[in-house]
Amino acid sequence: MFRSVLLYLAKARWARRIITGWKLSRLVASRFIAGDTLDDAVRAVRALNAAGLNATLDHLGEAVTTEAEARSAADDYLVLIDKICETGLRSNASLKLSQLGLNLSRDLCLENIRRIVRKAAACGLFVRIDMEDTSTVDWTLEIWRALQRDGLSNVGLVFQSYLYRTESDIRAVLSEGCRIRMCKGAYKEPPNLAYPKKSDVDASYDRLARIMIDAARAAGSVPASADGRIPPVTALATHDEARIAAGRAYAEQAGLPKPALEFQMLNGIRSDLQRSLAQAGYPVRVYVPYGTEWYPYFMRRLAERPANVWFFVSNFFR
Ligand SMILES: Cc1cc2nc3c(=O)[nH]c(=O)nc-3n(C[C@H](O)[C@H](O)[C@H](O)COP(=O)(O)OP(=O)(O)OC[C@H]3O[C@@H](n4cnc5c(N)ncnc54)[C@H](O)[C@@H]3O)c2cc1C
Repeated sequence: MFRSVLLYLAKARWARRIITGWKLSRLVASRFIAGDTLDDAVRAVRALNAAGLNATLDHLGEAVTTEAEARSAADDYLVLIDKICETGLRSNASLKLSQLGLNLSRDLCLENIRRIVRKAAACGLFVRIDMEDTSTVDWTLEIWRALQRDGLSNVGLVFQSYLYRTESDIRAVLSEGCRIRMCKGAYKEPPNLAYPKKSDVDASYDRLARIMIDAARAAGSVPASADGRIPPVTALATHDEARIAAGRAYAEQAGLPKPALEFQMLNGIRSDLQRSLAQAGYPVRVYVPYGTEWYPYFMRRLAERPANVWFFVSNFFR
C-alpha cells in the first residue's frame, strides 16, 4: 500500500512540483545521486574505481514528452560516452528508452539509441538498457533485437524477477547471446502481470539467477572485461544478502568462475557489501545516476524502503 502510494507519487506532476521544491528532498536524494553534472558523476566514479569497484553511469531522465527532449537526451549520452572514453573511467552507461522517445515514436527511439550504441562500440563500451514498466517490455526487446541485426553486440538488457513473463523472456534472449542484469523490479504492476508477494519475487529471482548462471557456463564463462567496461553475461543486481548468497552458492556449484559473475548495486546503498564482494574476487558494478531529473528515481528508492521515508519525514519536521 505504502509502496503503491510512493510509486503513484513518482509519476504525479503535482507531487513532483511540491517535493522537488523542498530543499530537504535534494539533500536526502544526494545519498543516491552523484550530483547535477557529468563532472560530479566523474568524481563519484573515480572514487568507486579507486576502491576496486566498476560503475555504470545513468544520466537521469525518463518519459520525455517531445522529440526535441528525446534527441537532446541522446546527445547528452554521446557526451557521456566521450567523457568515459577520454578519462579512462572503469564504467559503462545505462539508459532508459522512454528517455530517448520510446513513448513518442519507436523509430525516433531506435534512431537515438543507435547513435549512442554505435559511438559506444567505437571505444569498446557497453550500454545497458534499463527495464521500465511492463508497457515497455515488448518494445524494449524489439529494439534490442534491431540493434543485434545491426551487428551491435555491446548492448544488453535488464529483466525483473517480479514479472511472470521473465523466465520465458530470458530463455529466449540468452539463446541470442544477451548479457543480462537481473533485478527484482521497481515499478507498480498489477497482480495479473507480477508476483504481488515479496517471497515469490525472491524465489523467482533465485530461479532466474540459476538459469542465467547455467547459460553463462554453457557459453564458456566469459569474464567481465579487464577495463571494467563490458560486463559478463550474468549480472545480479540486488542488495539482498540472501539472493546474493544463493547466486554465489549456485555459481560455485555449477563451476562458474568468480570473474564471470558480476554483482551490481545502486550508488549509496550497501557500500559495505559492494566492497566485501569485490574483496572476495567478484566484479562489482555500482549504478551511478546524475543530473537534475532525479525526482522519479528518488521516489522509487523511497518506495523500496520505508525507513528512507521516515528519515525524510523526521528531518522535514525538525
Ligand atoms: C544496479 C541496479 C540496477 C537496477 N535497474 C533496474 C531496472 O532497470 N529496472 C527496474 O525495474 N529496477 C531496477 N533496479 C531496482 C530493483 O528492481 C529493486 O527495486 C532494488 O534493487 C531493491 O531491491 P533489492 O534487490 O535490493 O531487494 P530488497 O528486498 O528490496 O532489499 C534488500 C535490502 O537492500 C537494502 N535496500 C534495498 N533498497 C534500498 C533503498 N532504496 N534504500 C536503502 N536500502 C535499500 C535494504 O537493506 C534491504 O533490506 C536496479 C537495481 C540495481 C541494484
